Amino acid sequence: MNFTEHIILPVSDFLTGKSIAKHLRFLEKSQFWSRDKIEAYQNEKLKALIAHTYHNVPFYRGIFEDLRLKPEDIQTKNDLEKLPVITKDDIRKNYDKWMAVNIPKSQLISYVSSGSTGEPFLYYRTKYSESFQKATAIRAWKWMNYRMGNKYVKTSIHERESTLKKIQDIINRSLFLNFSHFNDAFFKKTYAKILNFEPVVIRGYPHPLSLLASYIQRNHKSYSGKKLKAINTTGSTLHPKDRQQLENTFKVKVFDSYSCEGSAFIAQCEHNNLYHPAEEYAILEFLPSKYTETDPEKPLRHITTDLHNYAFPFIRYDTQDYVVVKKNIPCDCNRKLLSIAKIKGRDTDILITPQKKYILMENILGYFENQQNVLQIQVVQEDYDTFVFNLVVNSSFNNQHKEIISTYWQNFMGDDCRIIINMVDEIQLTRTGKRRTVIRNPKIKINY
Ligand SMILES: [Zn+2]
Repeated sequence: MNFTEHIILPVSDFLTGKSIAKHLRFLEKSQFWSRDKIEAYQNEKLKALIAHTYHNVPFYRGIFEDLRLKPEDIQTKNDLEKLPVITKDDIRKNYDKWMAVNIPKSQLISYVSSGSTGEPFLYYRTKYSESFQKATAIRAWKWMNYRMGNKYVKTSIHERESTLKKIQDIINRSLFLNFSHFNDAFFKKTYAKILNFEPVVIRGYPHPLSLLASYIQRNHKSYSGKKLKAINTTGSTLHPKDRQQLENTFKVKVFDSYSCEGSAFIAQCEHNNLYHPAEEYAILEFLPSKYTETDPEKPLRHITTDLHNYAFPFIRYDTQDYVVVKKNIPCDCNRKLLSIAKIKGRDTDILITPQKKYILMENILGYFENQQNVLQIQVVQEDYDTFVFNLVVNSSFNNQHKEIISTYWQNFMGDDCRIIINMVDEIQLTRTGKRRTVIRNPKIKINY
């Protein structure tokens, strides 16, 4: 028996009104269900979701009426194609009509979408859906050899501000490290802290972790902690080069994982590098895209339907990420959940200032997440010292906001940088249809 999972978690659920332990028990079994059983479960949940949104979510009532559909017209996930694919833009335009009218405020938890394409927005989840989603994450962490109560390091771009979160860190035996400045002095301090803590898992964005790995390689050859079992990357695309560097340095397997608003938690299992989504949480649809037609791997658009969040529904929501799906390839782990070979989302560069300070997509997004009047962002390093911020803003944005942003980044990047703020109508997509948050002029090498 695992004390944290079987005793502490249920008690904490009881105190907070959540239900993570219950869902985790369910998910431990359902991960080995047959395909038929998984799909029957999804269809049942889908019917309930559709009935709920028809009756309680003004936006969806409108969609059903416009299309002359009744809830009974959606019986299985194959019927989903009768409904439109929804983008962040649709949500933003219809924001007031997106909340269910029948969910008590006490059940709501607010979230800011990670905005990996530079379009953060506020949304809500029910305690129920949050609990379910957390349980799917804990299940996936178990694939990584992590057991509840094990020590882990969590790296983030945010400061740990709330006392509640700090207390949770102690209870969860987690060491929180704020990765917002990247240079050797920072990595030296951070590496000492990690060694002293002896985590079982280190979790964080691929780029910051691979910069840390590069520091360790240069100065110590490899990681010398004794208890580490896995690295868990998340938040942006894990490139094969970064994976290899992390595995060479830390001498453990890297497990990549993915999540975004409305989507299933998707993680690599213990047997190979295939990813399995928590299909009990969401229905995944994969649509062809004109942008990736020429890509030999044929990545598909990942469209998600969140089966459990009744407060702020995501039905056929376009995650703007692409995946390479492996159809009909059984995984050695014996789970019948879908197999995904690659997640191609969130592609990004690293910027580097003349003082050799690294600026990551995560730095930029962390800051702009809280600027509600900036809708989209892109930062382009045009020259060694020149950084252009392209912003799509709303009508409440004024010169004072511009000044605040400019001052913040001038201080953050240093006096030797030129910060240029441009207001633009839209951020151009790349040839592969992605919106990149951070672009560095190729002439500027990362270790120049
Ligand atoms: Zn597997």
